[in-house]
Amino acid sequence: MSEMRIYNTLTRQMETLQPDEPGHVRLYTCGPTVYDFAHIGNFRTYVWEDLLRRTLKLLGMRVTQVMNITDVEDKIIQKMVSQELTLEQATEPFIEAFFADLDALFIERAEEYPRATDHIPEMIALAQELVAKGLTYESKGSLYYRISGFDSYGRLSNLDNRELKSGARVDSDEYEKDDARDFVLWKAAKLGEPSWESPFGPGRPGWHLECSAMAMKFLGQTFDLHTGGVDNIFPHHENEIAQSEGATGKPFVRYWMHAAHLLVESEKMAKSKGNFYKLRELLDRGHDARAVRLLLLSTHYRTPLNFTFSALERATGEVQRLDDLASRLEREADYEGRNEEFDGRMVQLKAEFEASLADDLNISGALGALFRLVREANVALDKKALPLDSRRGLQEALLWFDSVLGILERPADEPDEKIDDLVRRREEARAAKDFAEADRIRDELTANGIQLEDTPQGTIWKRMLSRGSDPD
Ligand SMILES: [Zn+2]
Repeated sequence: MSEMRIYNTLTRQMETLQPDEPGHVRLYTCGPTVYDFAHIGNFRTYVWEDLLRRTLKLLGMRVTQVMNITDVEDKIIQKMVSQELTLEQATEPFIEAFFADLDALFIERAEEYPRATDHIPEMIALAQELVAKGLTYESKGSLYYRISGFDSYGRLSNLDNRELKSGARVDSDEYEKDDARDFVLWKAAKLGEPSWESPFGPGRPGWHLECSAMAMKFLGQTFDLHTGGVDNIFPHHENEIAQSEGATGKPFVRYWMHAAHLLVESEKMAKSKGNFYKLRELLDRGHDARAVRLLLLSTHYRTPLNFTFSALERATGEVQRLDDLASRLEREADYEGRNEEFDGRMVQLKAEFEASLADDLNISGALGALFRLVREANVALDKKALPLDSRRGLQEALLWFDSVLGILERPADEPDEKIDDLVRRREEARAAKDFAEADRIRDELTANGIQLEDTPQGTIWKRMLSRGSDPD
């Protein structure tokens, strides 16, 4: 097992990640609020968290990851009321879509996806704990957290109390509070809104309370690692700490990591600017999901990611290079033996890949090592200097890199045999000088993303990645 260095937002320094139980990382990742399809900014964070999870596993650690599904919240209720839906009708389609999007981007499933509405008793119990500690007050039927009762408030976001106060509107709820920084734990029921009975009266949990209650239920009162986007640091994560530590008196989380924003063509993504993209819109335009994943991965997580269509084009080209090498390795004629120099380089570049990722997920270093190997492999293949054993070793190495990156070709809808068959029929048609039929078959293949190349050894084919169309 190897060590991993990470930047801990809480201490503002690089640290070696040392899970409480050696070799087992307990990880909480803030999940979606399911009132709409997730956008590419959300997926920047989720893909990064997947990279983190897969890296920890590559380094030999076991990961228990929990991601919440927020299925009761202001925006959901707005939708429910305005469209006359039940809570379930308002959320279920987007929960399904969320998991379909995770699969499209080849994001590994977490161990648990608890839903807020399945954990109301745990949230009420946590709020009661805070009442017992004298950290709350009631106002107009809602229960609030009294920040002035929690000394270390602001430690994660490094804001002092003065700054927090001047921030004024720090919570979107519209109930009355003693202090602008205070936040709601339990919201009083309003007519026509979903609500649950509680010792504080009928109502529903605040968003921050959901994460604290579910994180501690599945991972314990103190756990190793909590992640999210930078915009979660304040107030969401700060409030999670105040609730959990206020109730238990123990440290809540030992390491915090946060991903920077995503920009589109150097601008903040906003519906009003017309640069707001949901993942499925990009896929509907014909962009390849693996290229989207590579683009979302390829900027270091603490640097803002600039999503541009030219960068997506480049990422598509890089994924194509990997596919091309994989198919070259498949069809290379047999010559036995191994190339020891190449095998040695492979060991070196694998070590470089792993060491880069173990260094706070240095993705440029890791991708640099992989694509150097791709280049050197192509050079060796050009010289017919990559015998069978080395080729097999390289195929295994590519799968090993891909256990973290998740961008290699996955089994296609169209089986290879069917394409082989069409290619053979085209060759027969050409041999019979039926060029119309040969052209027709070529067009059919092209329409399905298959490119043909006629070589002295016969016709070879490869799958071309869809390039998609840019916005108008
Ligand atoms: Zn959260």
